[in-house]
Amino acid sequence: MIDLRSDTVTKPTEAMRKAAYEAEVGDDVYGEDPTVNKLEETAAEMLGKEAALFVTSGTQGNQIAALTHCRPGDEVILEANAHIYLFEGAAISAFAGVQPRPIQGVRGAMDPQDVAAAIRTEDIHFPDTTMICFENTHNKAGGAILPLENMQEIYKLAKEKDIAVHLDGARLFNASVASGISLKEYASYTDTVQFCLSKGLGAPVGSIIAGSKPFIKKARKWRKRLGGGLRQAGVIAAPGLIALQENVERLADDHHNANYLAEGLANISGLVVENNVETNILLVNVEKAGFTSDSFLKELKNKGVLAVPFGPSTVRFVTNYGVTKDDIDQALLAVQQLVNEI
Ligand SMILES: *Cc1c(COP(=O)(O)O)cnc(C)c1O
Repeated sequence: MIDLRSDTVTKPTEAMRKAAYEAEVGDDVYGEDPTVNKLEETAAEMLGKEAALFVTSGTQGNQIAALTHCRPGDEVILEANAHIYLFEGAAISAFAGVQPRPIQGVRGAMDPQDVAAAIRTEDIHFPDTTMICFENTHNKAGGAILPLENMQEIYKLAKEKDIAVHLDGARLFNASVASGISLKEYASYTDTVQFCLSKGLGAPVGSIIAGSKPFIKKARKWRKRLGGGLRQAGVIAAPGLIALQENVERLADDHHNANYLAEGLANISGLVVENNVETNILLVNVEKAGFTSDSFLKELKNKGVLAVPFGPSTVRFVTNYGVTKDDIDQALLAVQQLVNEI
């Protein structure tokens, strides 16, 4: 099977398995796991933040941001197709008790004027706006890179009003490798940032949330409350360290492969690539070729290729290090056959 469903399907490398086996460990709830501590220090340093916390998943990292920055009854501004809004089971409402205020963006970027207009003023009827969320790269927008200037402008607005800014940077490393803008620069226009070790970076488990020391102190307590205080977590943190040391630059290969796949698919009659492919995600509309996303994916699976539906006639492909250029050629052949057969 050629698995293009997500970059979460990547399996740990030999080096990661070896590092897990050899990891020095301790009880992380007591702060005594040297491998977890090293991962947190390394991640904080890479992002230019004071401190970081190893969390079980991206979703947990985003929840901890909402729980730490906000109080129940507050309002959170986010993009209308944000992962936090669409794909996290309304967890920010269920756990942090906040109300989302979605703003329709363009390629994942909210217009700063729309954000300014959505920030609540002091009024007995209104909730308080206490957090604004970015998503970079933007998943639903097809791995779109949020422009740095957009983050800059909205961050400035937020700081004038004393509102916390959180970056859902599940794929921030993809944005950085593709744009050449450093992680530190992106992170300088947000108070807190979550990124996934378990996606394109290839680690088996975990995310990082980073921010100021006081933020991370509170976040650590929220992680414990959520049941995310782990013990000898060095065995899962060690692969995360390898991910940061060895797997960052190679994300460029995934981006090349995604572009190559997009070019190939665009040449197959009836298929329309919906997004400008900037990173490792591409969205393909299959309607004109006579398919729904479900019928297309069922046939494609029979030919040994996996992808996921992203709407009634949109299919999402995500390149990852388990997929080579030869695999992409094979996948293109399978799609061509599929379209010819209909
Ligand atoms: C995958 C993803 C998450 C959630 O990460 P999990 O580790 O799957 O919980 C959050 N935000 C974005 C943009 C994502 O793509």
